[in-house]
Amino acid sequence: MTYVKLIRISLFFALFVLAVFIFFISGNPGWIEKNYASGFFQSLASILRLLFGWMPFSLGDIIYSIVTLSVLWQIGKFFVRLFHKTDSWTKKLSPLLTAGLILLFVYVYFYLFWGLNYYRKGIEHQLALQNSKFDKQQLIDLNKALLTEVNAAKEFCLQKKDTVMSRERMFHSSIEGYRELEKKFSFIRYRHMSLKPSMFGKIGNYVGFMGYYNPFTGEAQVNVRIPNFLQPYVTCHEMAHQIGYASESEANLVGFLAATHSNDTLLQYSAYFDMFLYAWNNLAAVDTTAAKELGKQLHAGVKRDLKTYSEFAKAHRSFLRDFTDAMYDYYLKRNRQRKGIDSYAEVTGWMIAYRKKYEPTSP
Ligand SMILES: [Zn+2]
Repeated sequence: MTYVKLIRISLFFALFVLAVFIFFISGNPGWIEKNYASGFFQSLASILRLLFGWMPFSLGDIIYSIVTLSVLWQIGKFFVRLFHKTDSWTKKLSPLLTAGLILLFVYVYFYLFWGLNYYRKGIEHQLALQNSKFDKQQLIDLNKALLTEVNAAKEFCLQKKDTVMSRERMFHSSIEGYRELEKKFSFIRYRHMSLKPSMFGKIGNYVGFMGYYNPFTGEAQVNVRIPNFLQPYVTCHEMAHQIGYASESEANLVGFLAATHSNDTLLQYSAYFDMFLYAWNNLAAVDTTAAKELGKQLHAGVKRDLKTYSEFAKAHRSFLRDFTDAMYDYYLKRNRQRKGIDSYAEVTGWMIAYRKKYEPTSP
């Protein structure tokens, strides 16, 4: 057995053992919450942000590109060798094994260094929320409250002629929002900024992502090619992923709380806008008339942004979008998010529970 072969086999077994460990540990949310999500992961993610946050470009995007190209290269090599009559089957299959090894490594790395957060107890447990089912009246109340907030924030920004947010301001206001939130909930702690514009923004518009977290480098990427008023909330959402809230509904809630605790009204507006859309869509699903009535009460400026958003979505509709939506839906369902892509909207339930507990006097 050659030296290289020995290393490959040992690596495969080591990764396999780790994959089995991940499988068993994922069934123990209590252990994960205490030792992983609130312990090991927090230190690891802080170190990653400290190491790579200062780089002006996204190292994670480069790593993603290299990994994707390496796998494609190995698959290509396999097909070329397949038609080489002189090559033995061991030689033919070798690139496939290498590709498999790379993918297994990515799988293990992903779960050990972030993905296990999908299996934690999470924000419901930390905030002691009771996310019981909500009724229509509660949904209407939430819609009304968010409508008031989104309208007020828009009016305030328009009066100050403050409508576009620079990238620097967006990132710094988001950090400030997290610092304010930490004063209320000490377990929500964000240190060492690592926020970058995504290198794949243009593709992102067609594929349908607004931002993503990179577990390899701890960086959060924001798609800066989407409408400006959406970007600040996306930034706060991705930052929630960075501090261990893997589930989409949890990242939505934590991101919303951070954004609305900031003193920057444009950042608040972005969060209220998005959250209103979730709540409004939920309402439209159960009572179209009530949703339409509320829609009429939106500020003219908010209506303009809604139009911009829907035109943007229409202009970037593609077959790729359906495909990636289906893939991501499957991925979320595999990671304990029963409702798949609809789990983003589960935040409505969290919002109702949160307001009931922490803001009982608000309208
Ligand atoms: Zn997300």
